[in-house]
Amino acid sequence: MAKIDVKCRYCNNTEEVIKSGYSISKQQRYQCKRCNRYFQLDYINNASKPGVKEQIVEMSINGSGVRDTVRVLKVGINTVIRVLKKSSIKNNKSFYQYNRSNYCS
Ligand SMILES: [Zn+2]
Repeated sequence: MAKIDVKCRYCNNTEEVIKSGYSISKQQRYQCKRCNRYFQLDYINNASKPGVKEQIVEMSINGSGVRDTVRVLKVGINTVIRVLKKSSIKNNKSFYQYNRSNYCS
């Protein structure tokens, strides 16, 4: 029987990766014992594929609208809005904290 080395998508580890059931779309799921995260080798859902969320943020920075992004990347409109909201919270956190400390003192 041929052995296939599965590489963890997050930490590139090959030794401590075990099979961990199936997804709803019948794809094999794996668990990495080192970083304790789950992943699949290929996804049916486009939004789950590695690098797509970064691409959504990049497209919005370069002037694409939400509907442009939906059409090009073939993800849901709610996914695009959620990713943009989360990224703006992450990027503006220090800005809000700075303003808050100015107003409250
Ligand atoms: Zn890992």
